[in-house]
Amino acid sequence: NYILKNKSEKPLSEVFIHERIPLESIAIENADLVAHDSLYSTYLFQFKKALQPNDSVKFMFELKKELKGYEEDNSIVKNGSYINHSSFEPVLGYGSGLEIRNRFERQRRGLPERIEENNTDAHIVIEDVKNEKIRFETIVSTSSDQTALTSGSLIKAWSEDGRNYYHYKSKDKILPVMAYFSAKYQTKKTTHNGISIEQYYDVKHSFNIEDVENSTKQTLDYCQENFGAYNFDHIRIAEIPAHWPFGGFAHPGMISMVEDRLYLTDQRNPETFNLVAKITIHEVAHQWWGHTLSAKPVAGGSLLVEGFAKYTEAVIMEKMYGKRALFTLSENARSRYFTGRAFASELEPPVYRVTSQSYISYGKALTVMMALRDLIGEKLLNQVLKTITDNHRNINKLEANSVEFLDELYKVTPADQHILIDDWFKKVITYDLSAEDSSYKALENGTFEVTVKVKAKRFETLKSGEIKQISINEPIKIGVFVKHPCLISKEDTILYLEPHQINKETMELKIIVDQLPKYISIDPYGTRSDENFTDNLLSL
Ligand SMILES: [Zn+2]
Repeated sequence: NYILKNKSEKPLSEVFIHERIPLESIAIENADLVAHDSLYSTYLFQFKKALQPNDSVKFMFELKKELKGYEEDNSIVKNGSYINHSSFEPVLGYGSGLEIRNRFERQRRGLPERIEENNTDAHIVIEDVKNEKIRFETIVSTSSDQTALTSGSLIKAWSEDGRNYYHYKSKDKILPVMAYFSAKYQTKKTTHNGISIEQYYDVKHSFNIEDVENSTKQTLDYCQENFGAYNFDHIRIAEIPAHWPFGGFAHPGMISMVEDRLYLTDQRNPETFNLVAKITIHEVAHQWWGHTLSAKPVAGGSLLVEGFAKYTEAVIMEKMYGKRALFTLSENARSRYFTGRAFASELEPPVYRVTSQSYISYGKALTVMMALRDLIGEKLLNQVLKTITDNHRNINKLEANSVEFLDELYKVTPADQHILIDDWFKKVITYDLSAEDSSYKALENGTFEVTVKVKAKRFETLKSGEIKQISINEPIKIGVFVKHPCLISKEDTILYLEPHQINKETMELKIIVDQLPKYISIDPYGTRSDENFTDNLLSL
C-alpha cells in the first residue's frame, strides 16, 4: 500500500506504471486501468477526476516471486535473503533510464538524440529521477527460525501461524532505498551515546565483530561532532551472502555487509591495513553522505556521496591507525584514478562534474579532498560540509549539488585560495613531483640539516584532450621521517611534515630536524594526482 501525491503544479489526469516483476494485482484509488501492455510490462491509469496538486490517492499492488525452471535469483535464499525495494517495486511515471541508449539503435528507429546532460552549472540533469524522501512503514514476516530486518524503528514483533512478524516504521522521512533482510542471525547489540548499534551475522562469522562495532562508534562520534546529528536512534549492520558483487550498501539506518569482504577478512595481524574498519567507516559515513545530505542526481552528485564518504573514511582511518592508513588509501585512490583515466572512453570531467566515472568519485575525489584539507584545515572543511548538510537536513527533495559545495567553500576562504580550489575541482590537472639529490649534515647543536632538490610540474588536460604543461605555485607538504611514511603508526613521531610554497620547476630546500633522518618525501601522503609516486621519496 502506497500513498501517491501529486507534487506538480498541474492537475494530473493519468499515471503510467512499469512493473519490474509481473504483478498479481494493481489498483489506484479513483482511477481506471485504461491500457496494459504485458509484453512491455506497462500500465496506464486514468483518474476518474483529475488529481489536483497536493492531493493524494492510494496505490495498491501485489506480487509473488516464484523461480521458474533454471531461473536464478540471488535475493531470496535459504539463509541470508536480501531483497531491495528497487528490485520489485513498480516504477512510476516515465523513466528516462529505461530509454534505448545505443546511438545507432536510436537512429535506426528514427528516435531523437538522447540528451543526457544539460550543460549548465545550475542544472546538470543526468537521469529523470523523481525520488524524494518518503514515509516508510512495513510489516514483514519470515520463517520461525529467522529474523527479518529493514529500515525504521521496530514497533512490534510477534509470532503467528508458525512465522515471525515484524512491524517497522520510520520516525522521519527516509530516502526510498530500503531492503528486506532475513536469516538465522547471531546478534550483538550495544548502546553508544543513545544510539543502539546492532549487528546481525552468521554464527560462524564472528571474527571481526569487535572491529565493526568499534569503527561504527568512532564514525558515529566523528560524524556527529563534525557534520551534525545522526538521523536515527539505531544502526543495524547485517551480513549478506558472498554472491553480492559489492563491499556493502547503506540503507537508511541499516547497512548490508558482504560475507567474504567483511566477515571473513583475516585481520588477526594488527600490522595489516584494517579493511574491516575501512568498509565499516565508509558505509556508516553514508548515513550522512547520501542519507542526510542527499545529492541531486546530476553531474557532481557523486562527489557529495562517494567523494565525501571516501574523505570521512580517510580522516577516521588516520585517527584510528595513523598516517600509514592514509598512505594506503591515497595510494589506492591515485592508482584507481590513473588506471580509470587511461581506460576512459570519454573525455574526463573535472571532479565537480563527475557522473558515473568511479575512478573520479572513489579516486581523484579523495585526492582533491585531502589537498583541500591541507590547504584550509580539517576544521574549516568540516564546517563547510556541515553547513551544506544542515541546509538539506530537513528537505525531502534531493537537491544538494557540487556547485553549492564550492560556493560555500568560496565564502569561508580567501580569494587567493579560490584559484587552487578551482584547479582541483573544476579543472583536470595532474602533477609530476619528485625529490632528487638529498643529503644531510649533523650540526653542532645536535640537529641535522637536510638538503633536497624537489622537482614539480603541472599539466592540464584541455577539453580538446590535449595535455599541456602549466605553471605551479602552491603549498605542498615535504616530510622527513625516521621510517618509511607507509609504516608511520599513531605512536610514531614524524620529524617534519610542513607545506612549502612550490613555485618553480626545480627548487632546493633546506630543512632542520632534531633526529637522524632516514627518508625525505614531497607529498608523502598523496594529496596530488601524481602518476609516478615512487620518485617522490628518497632514503637518506
Ligand atoms: Zn560509498
